[in-house]
Amino acid sequence: MPAGVRLQPHESTSGAAGLSTTAHDRLARMPRQVYPLRVLGMGLGALPLAAVLHENDAGPAVWAWLVFTALLWPQLALWLSLRSAHPHRAEVRNLLFDSALAGMWAPLMHFNLLPSVLLLTLATVDKISTGVPRLWLQSLPLMLAGIVLGSVATELAFQPVSSMRVIAACLPMLLIHTIAVSLAANRLIARIREQNRQLDQLHRVDALTGLAGRRHWQQQAEAALARHRGESLPASLLMVDIDRFKEINDQYGHASGDDVLRLIAGIVRRRLTEHDSGGRFGGDEFAIILAGADRDRARDVAEGMRRDVEAAAIALPHLAGLRCSVSIGVAEAETCHSTVRLWLEAADGALYAAKHAGRNRVVARPRATPTPRMDA
Ligand code: GH3
Ligand code: MG
Repeated sequence: MPAGVRLQPHESTSGAAGLSTTAHDRLARMPRQVYPLRVLGMGLGALPLAAVLHENDAGPAVWAWLVFTALLWPQLALWLSLRSAHPHRAEVRNLLFDSALAGMWAPLMHFNLLPSVLLLTLATVDKISTGVPRLWLQSLPLMLAGIVLGSVATELAFQPVSSMRVIAACLPMLLIHTIAVSLAANRLIARIREQNRQLDQLHRVDALTGLAGRRHWQQQAEAALARHRGESLPASLLMVDIDRFKEINDQYGHASGDDVLRLIAGIVRRRLTEHDSGGRFGGDEFAIILAGADRDRARDVAEGMRRDVEAAAIALPHLAGLRCSVSIGVAEAETCHSTVRLWLEAADGALYAAKHAGRNRVVARPRATPTPRMDA
């Protein structure tokens, strides 16, 4: 009856081999996490059991079994798990035994309707809420075995009517268990939401430069192109590539190369407005969309970036004296750019021309098609 216990769904109970250390640690912690919940669940379950046993004038053996169930079993379960070489597997066995106990108690209560149904239902809910695949299904035969064993012991005594006292004794278990399971589900939802947010962030942002990741940038580029088509808003694409970056890597090492990438990304970013989007396109290449910028404006912005990089003294002691430059290709969105890929190819062509012409320069691709401008 431990309420709200949850294992990680991917943490198979069939073995710890191949699990990461963190997953393994989490599994090893499981018995200690289950323990207080089992103490609580068994304690709450003991209330209706005691009420029924009292009404049925139960013998000392059944009372002793109640003491075992409510007081001794939680301690024994913890001890069994902790001394096991595989605590999580031992704990799963304990959870299955919980179900067998619940099954046994239904006939021991002479099938008193409300507590019997409650006990069997909550024992199953507990198995479901562990998140261990099919655990609840595995628990059903054991529950049935418990019912059969208890029925043999009581010779199928049958007194299903639940008195007001028994109903009242069921309420704490019903209320507290339901709330505990809901709280656990709520915690899980909050954790999933946070993990989704982190995943989304990872997908959006390039960790090294803080610029948009490639896929996220691609979505922004598609939106900008759609706006250009729909509202005739000008937009320009800049492809920025660091000059001779391989040499920086070779001379100063890859980690210093990363520092340079970060610094240059920062310099480029300072020229962007909130409407623009800069993305790391891969390696030492950045792709930037300037919203609302026609070719001339985009060339000015690109020229500003190029000058900033050229003028920047790399403020890192191990890179003192290093000077960098970038080459930039500019392409304004045109009607012939039906896809982002075609637009990128245009900017890439201009970048290639800038490299070919000696690097550290901006080349703006001439417009292929004269398009009416908003301000024309
Ligand atoms: P060019 O002027 O023609 O652009 O010359 P280049 O040396 O910059 O040539 P290229 O752009 O082809 O080389 C990019 C290099 O960037 C190659 C790769 O080793 C390096 N690189 C790619 N990603 C990273 C990264 O994340 N960190 C570091 N430090 N280097 C990277
Ligand atoms: Mg380069």
